[in-house]
Amino acid sequence: MPFGSTEFPLSDKTDPLAVVESVRVYSIPMRTRFRGITVREGMLLRGPSGWGEFCPFEDYGDAASVPWLAAALEQCTNDWPTPVRRRIPVNCTVPAVDPDTAHDIVSRSGCDTAKVKVADHPGSLGEDQVRVEAVRDALGPDGAIRVDANAAWDVDTAVRHIRVLDRSAGGLEYVEQPCPTVDELAQVRRRVDVRIAADESIRRADDPLRVARAEAADVAVIKCTPLGGVRRALRIAEDSGLPCVVSSALETSVGLAAEVALAAALPELPFACGLGTLSLLNGDVVGSASALKPVDGFVTVPSAPPQPESSLMEAHAPTDPVTAARWLARLSRVGALLGARS
Ligand SMILES: [Mg+2]
Repeated sequence: MPFGSTEFPLSDKTDPLAVVESVRVYSIPMRTRFRGITVREGMLLRGPSGWGEFCPFEDYGDAASVPWLAAALEQCTNDWPTPVRRRIPVNCTVPAVDPDTAHDIVSRSGCDTAKVKVADHPGSLGEDQVRVEAVRDALGPDGAIRVDANAAWDVDTAVRHIRVLDRSAGGLEYVEQPCPTVDELAQVRRRVDVRIAADESIRRADDPLRVARAEAADVAVIKCTPLGGVRRALRIAEDSGLPCVVSSALETSVGLAAEVALAAALPELPFACGLGTLSLLNGDVVGSASALKPVDGFVTVPSAPPQPESSLMEAHAPTDPVTAARWLARLSRVGALLGARS
């Protein structure tokens, strides 16, 4: 074949990381242990339109991290959809703590909605009940209480515990991910009067719309990081036909801005969102004036995405070179996977 008729792929154009000008690695301690982690690590990528955040949790393999990278690249290359609201109501989060601590967390939060962790260990129902009662006492009769079981129950246990906790709470707004599978969620949903929300069944699923087709949930918990960015998450929200709650993936203010942009762009937002998570981190890469912290139960939608400050990125850089090398290697492996798919 003559040379002139051969087309050569332009590798620079197909490499998704070609738009990234520089990267920083961060390592920020958590204020309290959450989701089993004590230090939040991730990367900040600088692209043509600003910074994005790539921060898949440790237990996400390379393939599962591809949407996280797509979300980070969207942040540093694209504009987000036009917001339809200026502020986002957020919930406070009550971990598996004693009732006095639970009461205190809710009272100090300024939020009208509390998300309460339940089913932390087998035999926790008694503790879950007194925690939920303390939260109701702190919120007053008009507040909303949702519980999150993180897929801990089987169907029968879920039905029994949801009924008990619904009574203890004086009415639950919804129960998040009572069981692991979509089929189990659908069974529980047919047997209880409380709304069922799907979280893990959407963010860790190959097919995030299966929940909606199986009529397995009344509410979809969505996060733009595991779903591949703001625009893709918006499409999934629309295609699901379900009311959505936007929740963070424990990002710094850089990544959190994308979750806020998603919540701001959803046509309907009937429930408070899980975006008041910045206080779980003992530090941020964005200066406090533009950090996305809730005030009186609301996060204000910024007019432009907050940008990290050099001194803060410096302050939160990992002290050992091994961590940085591990993230750089991860970025290049996930980048290659994303490039192979697009
Ligand atoms: Mg959840």
